[in-house]
Amino acid sequence: MPKQHISSENPISRRSFLQQSLTLPLAVLLAACAGPVSTTGSASQATASPQASPRVQSTTLSSPPACSGTPTPSQTEGPYYKAGSPERTSLQGPGIVGTSLTIRGYVFSTACQPIAHAWLDFWQADSDGNYDNAGFKLRGHQFTDKQGHYQLETIVPGEYPGRTRHIHVKVQAPGQAVLTTQLYFPGEPHNESDSIFSPDLLMQVQNTSNGQLATFNFVLALQ
Ligand code: FE
Repeated sequence: MPKQHISSENPISRRSFLQQSLTLPLAVLLAACAGPVSTTGSASQATASPQASPRVQSTTLSSPPACSGTPTPSQTEGPYYKAGSPERTSLQGPGIVGTSLTIRGYVFSTACQPIAHAWLDFWQADSDGNYDNAGFKLRGHQFTDKQGHYQLETIVPGEYPGRTRHIHVKVQAPGQAVLTTQLYFPGEPHNESDSIFSPDLLMQVQNTSNGQLATFNFVLALQ
């Protein structure tokens, strides 16, 4: 499926790309509700909006954005990383309060080939800007599926002094070096005054009926 990014300049491929992009979020959501991602069974339901206008389609294009081929820049780990986080795709649960946030996207190589079974380890502050350094609240790792896709259910992190709103993540293709970086939210008042902030690490974020939906594709330089 991510191969669509490569050929999107071709008009026919672009149409196909738009159609697939329209179906993708539904397929992903359906798969997510069902547990481990399956590419079968959801396609027929995903075609339920054939009347969608180009405007609607382009809005839906925010998932997934194209692969740039440019390696995702690394950033400082910061003081709060803890190895050994539990494997889980949702960081929500008892005691976790805040605006629901879904982050999803792909892990690509610089050749824009999706990377299956890439490891992603997320950690973030709670809605008050505090990290759980005693346990593993708002910490968790997961692996991309066969299509190189990941999806995280979490909450919007709070800010803490000196930093704009951000989420930490480590990403590693099998047998490759670990990329440590951070993800940012567009339109934040403190983005420009945060010396660590990079516009290259901005997620695409949209409001949904129950929170926020963000997309970000990682690009890894493989050795
Ligand atoms: Fe931090």
